[in-house]
Amino acid sequence: MAKRPADAPLSTSVLIAGAGPVGLALACELGLRGIDCIVAEKRDGKLHVPKMSLVSAGSMEYCRRWGISEQVRTAVWSENHALDFVYRETLAGRALTRIKIPA
Ligand SMILES: Cc1cc2nc3c(=O)[nH]c(=O)nc-3n(C[C@H](O)[C@H](O)[C@H](O)COP(=O)(O)OP(=O)(O)OC[C@H]3O[C@@H](n4cnc5c(N)ncnc54)[C@H](O)[C@@H]3O)c2cc1C
Repeated sequence: MAKRPADAPLSTSVLIAGAGPVGLALACELGLRGIDCIVAEKRDGKLHVPKMSLVSAGSMEYCRRWGISEQVRTAVWSENHALDFVYRETLAGRALTRIKIPA
């Protein structure tokens, strides 16, 4: 990607506010259709609260379409890491129930 001066004027067909899943998905879809766009994100990209531990089958269909499904599948956990939800009385206390989620 070419470097441009920070104060150079911007010109684009579509300005997308926010680089969350919706903004990035929109940028992917516009790019696939040859429509230029700029994504503006107000934060620095650091994650303080992880907001996606599970990716639905429907979302993975989009990831496959964008050619990123393998990176998404192994982005955080290895492929055989169980994603079960466990409810406990305390962190180290008695387990109340477990919802099994396949790796
Ligand atoms: C704790 C938690 C766990 C979750 N776990 C899952 C999960 O496992 N699986 C799942 O599918 N979903 C999960 N979700 C839901 C998922 O994170 C949201 O549905 C998704 O992030 C919504 O995407 P979005 O792009 O609409 O908004 P956001 O992800 O909120 O993104 C909006 C972006 O816009 C930026 N922004 C806002 N205003 C401006 C502005 N004026 N200018 C520039 N940038 C701006 C923000 O900084 C932000 O980066 C979870 C949510 C939470 C809170």
